[in-house]
Amino acid sequence: MCGIVGYVGSKKCLPILLNGLKSLEYRGYDSAGVAIMEKDCIEIRKECGRVCSLENSVDSSHFLGSVGIAHTRWATHGKPCRENAHPHKDNSNTFAVVHNGIIENYKELRQTLEGYGYSFYSQTDTEVIPNLIHSYYSQKEKTKENFLNAVCKACKDFKGSYALLVLCKDFPNMQIVVRKDSPLVIGLR
Ligand code: GLU
Repeated sequence: MCGIVGYVGSKKCLPILLNGLKSLEYRGYDSAGVAIMEKDCIEIRKECGRVCSLENSVDSSHFLGSVGIAHTRWATHGKPCRENAHPHKDNSNTFAVVHNGIIENYKELRQTLEGYGYSFYSQTDTEVIPNLIHSYYSQKEKTKENFLNAVCKACKDFKGSYALLVLCKDFPNMQIVVRKDSPLVIGLR
């Protein structure tokens, strides 16, 4: 069973995300990863194995961002390996997503997206999520409202249960969180 954790605030988020993943370690997992908003791009790091392998592989002086998402994966679709580890991004590197759960109709969605010209680099069900969001988002102006609308439209297409955290490089101070039949807790302070 995987775990996801996100942070939006004023502090450097890498240590907060890594601590969050460590608190979720008891759930079991095969790989771990983080995505952090850095200036105008989303930086992703992922590793097979323990959260401490991820921690050791990340140069913390490189990560200054205060908005990010992180994941410990328990593979349901695709073997445990770095390519299949989360976060996953869309082809244009606009979105990064971590996902707990299963997208049951991912094969059909993947086929449709391939028909639109999208490529896939993992065996996961998850990789359709950022690409489907992008396919809706790219049809409209780059506004926060359209970011939200694109996520809502994509979620209407998904069958299955999920908790998702979504970063968009065009809106570096926020993330969208969604859940359907999977637990997700939001803390405010
Ligand atoms: N179904 C996704 C995958 O296999 C997410 C698994 C999980 O919840 O960790 O990558």
